[in-house]
Amino acid sequence: MDTVDYPRTLPWVGHLRCPHCQHPNEAWRSSGMSECFPHFYCSVCSNVVHREADKATVWDAATPELLAQVAATLPECPCGGRFVPGAGPKCAQCRQDTDLVADPVAYLHNPHMVVLDGACVFSDRRGPYRVRIVG
Ligand SMILES: [Zn+2]
Ligand SMILES: [Zn+2]
Repeated sequence: MDTVDYPRTLPWVGHLRCPHCQHPNEAWRSSGMSECFPHFYCSVCSNVVHREADKATVWDAATPELLAQVAATLPECPCGGRFVPGAGPKCAQCRQDTDLVADPVAYLHNPHMVVLDGACVFSDRRGPYRVRIVG
């Protein structure tokens, strides 16, 4: 799998603080201009999937019906988990969900994909890649 390095000096590299143990997880956050919506995290790990096909589905509206329609087609994660609505990145220290996704329906239109250091991004437009925070 490809690895994409993001230097810590970049403005879109920061920390996702765990609400449970306060660990500052290093993460890359996609800009709003990259329009990485919708995206879904794995139920078990911090991997994320972003598909342009889903964007067309939810372009006009974010509703529970459209969410269910997309969710039914989400793939399994190589870790054995599954990409599901409502899951967020998992804290590297305590392994609990960081609760990034509070409202799965509203989150359909959230363009800011947060990828923790070491997590992988899956897409329907390019091969999967692992994010690595360096520098
Ligand atoms: Zn934690
Ligand atoms: Zn996973």
